[in-house]
Amino acid sequence: MITVYNVLMKSHPKNERTLVIIKPDGIQRTLIGEIIQRYERLGLKLVGMKLVRPTKELVEKHYTNDPEWIRKTGAKFIAHATEHKLNIKHPDPVKMGEHILHRLSKYMTAGPVIAMVWQGLHVVPVVRKITGGTEPLRSDVGTIRGDFVLDSYEFSDIQDRSIRNLVHASGSVEEADKEIALWFKKDELIDYTLVQEKILYDMNLDGIFE
Ligand code: GDP
Ligand code: MG
Repeated sequence: MITVYNVLMKSHPKNERTLVIIKPDGIQRTLIGEIIQRYERLGLKLVGMKLVRPTKELVEKHYTNDPEWIRKTGAKFIAHATEHKLNIKHPDPVKMGEHILHRLSKYMTAGPVIAMVWQGLHVVPVVRKITGGTEPLRSDVGTIRGDFVLDSYEFSDIQDRSIRNLVHASGSVEEADKEIALWFKKDELIDYTLVQEKILYDMNLDGIFE
């Protein structure tokens, strides 16, 4: 998929970018190195990184970048809760979505977070794949959310808090473009070459033998 970044700056699909945030529980669980290693060893390139104390306003802007997010997330919650016979706090999707946003903003402002921009071929879906599904109870084994954290919608609802799943990763290329612009200034992102790109993206895999 062609991104704004690709159109404006570089056309090669290896330059797709995504936003990853290590959430407060990821930092508190001392999983920074482990999480970064998962993305790094895949062959992705880190082009921006900072430790941030997010404000409520930043978190709300982040999640409402898609104006439909509140309704969609509320509806997703209600569908899941109905299927699994869980308690539904608000039957109206917008009200429920607003409540989820309120919980999220408490969670995301509870401590420092690390914001990162990763770059590489198909980086958006690849990062989602290794990050895993939203609910740790159901996310796949081998993913970050499946391997390093215990939580469920059922338990987080009993405690009336956001589900704790260690990381945020952009859901689409369009979402990534908007989120990166929200968290990073242009000069905080660095264009450079990694030596391994020669092997990852070179067409002929030549120049190895002396
Ligand atoms: P993600 O892209 O997999 O992180 O999921 P979403 O964008 O749908 O939701 C963003 C965040 O909101 C998730 O990571 C959760 O922390 C929280 N969240 C989303 N849906 C629910 C829900 O149904 N219940 C609870 N407790 N939290 C939710
Ligand atoms: Mg999302």
